[in-house]
Amino acid sequence: MSIARFWRETPRRYNLGGSRCGNCGTVYFPPRAVCPRCPQHRTTIEKMAPFQLSGEGEVASFTLVHDPAEGFEMQVPYVLALVRTVEGPVLTGQIVDVEPHDVAIGLKVKATFRKLREEGKAGVIHYGYKFTPAGEPATAAGPRGPVEPVRPTETPARDRASA
Ligand SMILES: [Zn+2]
Repeated sequence: MSIARFWRETPRRYNLGGSRCGNCGTVYFPPRAVCPRCPQHRTTIEKMAPFQLSGEGEVASFTLVHDPAEGFEMQVPYVLALVRTVEGPVLTGQIVDVEPHDVAIGLKVKATFRKLREEGKAGVIHYGYKFTPAGEPATAAGPRGPVEPVRPTETPARDRASA
């Protein structure tokens, strides 16, 4: 992808702005202009509305990458996962702030915005979303991102003001 195109698309990547069909309720990310799920999808053009994904979801599948894509050399091994968001769309992203062997299918995660990679000598830095474990601590270990209160026997609060 060209740099120009990347930056054009960056705002969307930053805020996980998708779209939602007002007809059937299906959420799309990246956003779609029409809803392919609706039988008469051409009529959904005016029903598609911007929709903000929460970034919460769970790991649907993952792979441990030892052989990095260009620009990711500094980070191996890293976990690349398909995350099924609570709203439905499946996102691809790196799982960070957790030991690779602690990643499992069903792990609850939350999107966070991080440096994705640096490019070449010019040091162009790409930012985008990655996922960190949400809710209960995976292990007793390690520095984590923004600390959220965790109560051992409760599920993490989902309904904190999501404006
Ligand atoms: Zn629809």
